[in-house]
Amino acid sequence: MAYDDNNIFARILRGEIPCTRLYEDEFALAFPDIHPQAPTHILVIPKGKYISAADFNAKASAEELVGFYRAVSAVAKQAAVEESGYRLICNAGPHSHQDVPHYHIHILGGRPLGHLLGPPL
Ligand code: AMP
Repeated sequence: MAYDDNNIFARILRGEIPCTRLYEDEFALAFPDIHPQAPTHILVIPKGKYISAADFNAKASAEELVGFYRAVSAVAKQAAVEESGYRLICNAGPHSHQDVPHYHIHILGGRPLGHLLGPPL
């Protein structure tokens, strides 16, 4: 599958769709999820064109990998959820319901999040 240059996060990266830029560096951009599932719900995306976790982990340079994952931690720290705790979620593929085909990590926190998975659909 080829990377879709018109996916919503590609458009956010190009500034065509607005977002509140909570954190940005050479490797990553973080912004609030438009449909928050918790008091803190932030998306962190790499700047490179990667469809999924598998794509990013296989193809990104060592610099991009380190830069991105360090940014995820920096965003959690900035959002002040480090002490209370937070959950990182990465949906990958149809069973997980990955809707946007640009790799992203959800940071969720700000309240007790319960068990890992909710009841089956
Ligand atoms: P996923 O299901 O893991 O692909 O998650 C995609 C997430 O992107 C969802 O939680 C959406 O609420 C979120 N989302 C979609 N469009 C936007 C947008 N324009 N700004 C912020 N978040 C968005």
